[in-house]
Amino acid sequence: MESPPVVVGQRVRAVLDVALRVPSLFITDAILNLPHDASAGFLSLLLQLALRLLGVVASIVVLVLSRRALFKFYMITAALALAATSVLVSYYATLHLNFSRASYSAALGLEFLPSNGPSLWMTLIVLQLIFGIGFITLLQVQSYSQLIILDLLIPTVGFIIELPLGVQQILVFISALVLILYTVACLAFRFRWFYYSTKYTVLLLKHMYQVYGIQLMVEDAWKKIHFPDVLRVFWLTRLATQAVFLFYVVRESSSDAGEVSYFIPWNDLSELVCNLIINGCDSTLTVLGMSAVISSIAHYLGLGILAFIGSTEEEDKRLGFVAPVLFFILALQTGLSGLKPEERLVRLCRNMCLLLTAVLHFIHGMTDPVLMSLSASHVSSYRRHLPVLLVSVCLFVLPVLLSCVLWHYYALNTWLFAVTAFCVELCLKVIVSLTVYTLFMIDGYYSVLWEKLDDYVYYVRSTGSIIEFIFGVIMFGNGAYTMMFESGSKIRACMMCLHAYFNIYLQAKNGWKTFMNRRKAVKKINSLPEVKGSESREIDDVCAICYQEFHTSARITPCHHYFHALCLRKWLYIQDTCPMCHQKVYIDDDSKENASVSNNNGFVAPNEEPAQPDADREADQELEEQNLSEDDSVECDDEEWTTEPHNSTSEEHVSDDTDSLGE
Ligand SMILES: [Zn+2]
Ligand SMILES: [Zn+2]
Repeated sequence: MESPPVVVGQRVRAVLDVALRVPSLFITDAILNLPHDASAGFLSLLLQLALRLLGVVASIVVLVLSRRALFKFYMITAALALAATSVLVSYYATLHLNFSRASYSAALGLEFLPSNGPSLWMTLIVLQLIFGIGFITLLQVQSYSQLIILDLLIPTVGFIIELPLGVQQILVFISALVLILYTVACLAFRFRWFYYSTKYTVLLLKHMYQVYGIQLMVEDAWKKIHFPDVLRVFWLTRLATQAVFLFYVVRESSSDAGEVSYFIPWNDLSELVCNLIINGCDSTLTVLGMSAVISSIAHYLGLGILAFIGSTEEEDKRLGFVAPVLFFILALQTGLSGLKPEERLVRLCRNMCLLLTAVLHFIHGMTDPVLMSLSASHVSSYRRHLPVLLVSVCLFVLPVLLSCVLWHYYALNTWLFAVTAFCVELCLKVIVSLTVYTLFMIDGYYSVLWEKLDDYVYYVRSTGSIIEFIFGVIMFGNGAYTMMFESGSKIRACMMCLHAYFNIYLQAKNGWKTFMNRRKAVKKINSLPEVKGSESREIDDVCAICYQEFHTSARITPCHHYFHALCLRKWLYIQDTCPMCHQKVYIDDDSKENASVSNNNGFVAPNEEPAQPDADREADQELEEQNLSEDDSVECDDEEWTTEPHNSTSEEHVSDDTDSLGE
């Protein structure tokens, strides 16, 4: 257990760790946004470029420093700043203060210092003392530290005893020179340390690059410097500063007009917000910051929905990752930051609509498995079902509302087409989910085996998949159209390739695979002999897959095991061996001969503990061999029909399978 002060110290350090990296982002952003001075000559242009590059590289280096190095860097910077301030204060005092008259002519008409004699020089001495102590503490020097404080005090003393102005200025100059020399000496003394730690870092990076590769290294750095947090703080601080500034301007202009009020009118407020948003995405870096903010929002939204529908799926927590990446790619693809301000707002709104539909699709991906597992497991508590159904209904209503509103306000273009297609696709997906859910619920309500259920589920799901596939193709066409006639960028081309691969090619491949599996399974089962009607009722046993009796028909495998056709078919999607004895279910002459010896349902006595599946399999084979040598009879042993089927894993496989059918 750590004591509270230690914990607080850690917190403060963690906050500082993020906060101190933010300035480098501001500097990078400012450098990147500086207007280019095109009128200058080639050489000065080159110099400008070099300076900018240097600035960006330096701020990036500061950004990725380790925590210790970062603190050290800021301490040295602060020490230098204190030293400079101290010198400036001394110089300022010599120019503007006059002790004998105890008054001074301030530069900007501001009164920083007290105006009467003794308290004025007391203040000056205290100020210089603070600067001096701050300087030596931050620079962490032991040797001659008292001398440095004295050195800082000399100009003030010269000033108090009223030396002539020229001498005072020389004193300031000498004191400053001593300070500079001292600082340089201090830093030079540390140069060795600096050199070795830099060398060590470079070697470490090289080693890491060789071992882990560039991607893992970037990932590691990304995590270590809390880059998303830094981006968020950067973006929010920038937004807040601009908000305060704009608010001040608006209030000034309204107070000019004679109104004095702390509330600004609605029109001004909306304009202000629009301006803020436009400024919030005016460069690649700010778009990144915006993505980071979106990431947090999406993350908590995702967690909230997961908690609401009662899912514990770890995979589904990716919304905080998916949403910002999508937003960023959309921004790059549409060239958001390079647009004119008015266009930027419109483009941003459009991107947000697309993002919203994509997020809704993702949420559907989260709710669908929960809905399926609820319906399949026959949980009848309303409190479990209601939230999931509510979310599903919202997922249906929201896209409809969105597309209605958009169609009302905008004329058809490729963007509106894409959003609408996304919305319609989502609605269809929700309908498919709800239909399958209803089918399973009906099945659960009637306890009789519903032979056709599997077929219905398959038809509904495959219809959904086919429509989804068609939408994928349509979206591809839409993208190609945009690319050719509106804006063709490399990023868009990449995205189109990804879309073609994941949403068209893979989907078609998986759909085809499912279809072929199913056809093959049906074909295999149809080739098996069938027992129908009253004959099947005479079989004194249950199906080993579903534990239910044979009412209408049963299929007999070559190994003389009886199953429902439906149960066996589900099993055959997974593997094409008999669930009881692991022999091939194909009917060819070979397997017929081999199979003829096996016995029915279960070699394991009822009291025996069920073994692990693998061990089970081996045991099976062993026993089979024993049977082979002992007993060559082909008929089934009626007593063994009643023994407990031991292959309990088969049922789990099959119930899982119904969920994933047609995907
Ligand atoms: Zn069955
Ligand atoms: Zn068998």
